[in-house]
Amino acid sequence: QKIATDKDPEFSAMVLYYYHRAAQTMEKELVKEMDKYNHLKPEHKQARVSAILNLIGSVCTSIEVSFPIIKANGTYEIITGYRAHHVRNRLPLKGGIRFAMDVDEAEVKALASIMTFKCACVNLPYGGSKGGVRIDPAKYTVGELQTITRRYTMELLKRNMIGPGIDVPAPDVNTGPREMSWIVDQYTKTFGYKDINAAAIVTGKPVHVGGINGRNSATGRGVWKSGDLFLQDKEWMDMIGLKTGWKDKKVIVQGFGNVGSFAAKFVHEAGAKVIGIQEMGFSLANKDGIDINDVIKFKEEKKTIKGYPKAKASKGSLLTAECDILMPCATQKVITSENAKDIKAKLILEGANGPTTPAGEKILLDKGVLIVPDLYCNAGGVTVSYFEYLKNINHVSYGKMQSKTISRIIVEIVNSMNESLSVCGEGEFPTIKANKKLKLIRDCTKEADIVDAA
Ligand code: GLU
Repeated sequence: QKIATDKDPEFSAMVLYYYHRAAQTMEKELVKEMDKYNHLKPEHKQARVSAILNLIGSVCTSIEVSFPIIKANGTYEIITGYRAHHVRNRLPLKGGIRFAMDVDEAEVKALASIMTFKCACVNLPYGGSKGGVRIDPAKYTVGELQTITRRYTMELLKRNMIGPGIDVPAPDVNTGPREMSWIVDQYTKTFGYKDINAAAIVTGKPVHVGGINGRNSATGRGVWKSGDLFLQDKEWMDMIGLKTGWKDKKVIVQGFGNVGSFAAKFVHEAGAKVIGIQEMGFSLANKDGIDINDVIKFKEEKKTIKGYPKAKASKGSLLTAECDILMPCATQKVITSENAKDIKAKLILEGANGPTTPAGEKILLDKGVLIVPDLYCNAGGVTVSYFEYLKNINHVSYGKMQSKTISRIIVEIVNSMNESLSVCGEGEFPTIKANKKLKLIRDCTKEADIVDAA
């Protein structure tokens, strides 16, 4: 089935587009798999595969909840939130909760399906989910945010949408350990007396309430490590014309929240020069490199990186500025048909979920840019969430989690990806020659399948 796309389709259409592209590649293999089921007539094997692929392409449940809060100044406000469950065949489901103004049903549904594919990519036994509350958190007091989080939690609990064996939320855009601690407290207070696994209601908790060392930095660490595996490989680097290793590599990071700040910290500590930080509506640049630990300290004090004195601030976008590596670490659809042709980076590390549109991707791949895709690049967070979940349901303490653990897991994933790519076989990809590896990593399909993407 070919699905047409606009140049830069709606986010949900874009996720579906990538899914269908992958599904086309898999279809023949899956029909062969059906040979195991001797009772199926040959014509039913194809029908069953199509049904399964269609099922995976749709979201099974999503809900919208609205509730009132009383604000600190005595006024009332109605708050709207969402939660989507992708396929429920692998329980529990797993996925973050974001607080942002662009949250809506279509967005959480698309993000939920990305979570299923991400968990499958890194071999975690979870289905995918995602939730969000449509607010700009900067406009609320801490007390109001706490009320919103607790009330949203209750709305989901009442509808059986979350639970340690159903769906386990985690941090996402604009949420973190603080919000997770409110959720676990709300759940424990409500059901703790009859649920011995209450701590596993959510991951990304502070360590003292059942969290795990390393979770807060895990997504950023994964971004660094996934890039590292390619940067240390001479064959890959020769293909994109970079020297191996991080030393003096010019890096630009877009987004300086949890993912971007830690990713920047790890690449900085590995020897790269972070020459630019792009935030919403403004950027910081310093061609000699920015001391990321210093910026993080500044942000901890001032709650913003605006005004950081040791870099030049400007309003222009840094996405297309001169650099070797670009790390989009904020939200979806930042690399599009509009800006992809001007991007100078040779390596893109997708710390965000879905940062590149199909048309943007095609332009980059045609230019020979190496894209380390989101499903793998930002999977460090949910990987460490899994360890936190295991710690909670097993009622054990691991002690300080070795950062090496996540690095090792990512190495294992790359190795297993390499194996599965070689299973596909060269004959399947006649159009791919010199840059076949580049294409294989993300574009596991034939050029002809892209209908309108460019
Ligand atoms: N929100 C993160 C993601 O998009 C983490 C999810 C989790 O830890 O469950 O992968």
